[in-house]
Amino acid sequence: MARGHQKIQSQAKASEKQAKIKKQQGHSANDQKKAAQKALVHVCAVCKSQMPDPKTYKQHFENKHPKNDMPEELKDREMARGHQKIQSQAKASEKQAKIKKQQGHSANDQKKAAQKALVHVCAVCKSQMPDPKTYKQHFENKHPKNDMPEELKDV
Ligand SMILES: [Zn+2]
Ligand SMILES: [Zn+2]
Repeated sequence: MARGHQKIQSQAKASEKQAKIKKQQGHSANDQKKAAQKALVHVCAVCKSQMPDPKTYKQHFENKHPKNDMPEELKDREMARGHQKIQSQAKASEKQAKIKKQQGHSANDQKKAAQKALVHVCAVCKSQMPDPKTYKQHFENKHPKNDMPEELKDV
């Protein structure tokens, strides 16, 4: 019985081992297939030369078959590059617009600040007042005989 049991075990082990080898072979065969597909993925439509990558293929096509129509897959690359260019241009103009906006903003702020600073100019002596309160005090002190400007009556 003990021997029979061992035999069954060793058979089981053997078949397990074979399955493992089979699996590895299948795996590596699949890998080789994938690698082959990858290596041969770009085949010149005109002379059937195999290209390692689209860039090489395109250069080959431009050099060897300038009179042939460029395959769509190579045109797409061109388009993708064009798109990237547009994107980077858009980014650049966006950046410029942002800078312009910031500049415009700060210029506007400066203008506002200047307007605010110069908004109260004494109607009599043309002195510049930072605020209506100061202007009113100034007017009452310096020009008591002059009529108070309308804008100060409410202050
Ligand atoms: Zn070719
Ligand atoms: Zn004044």
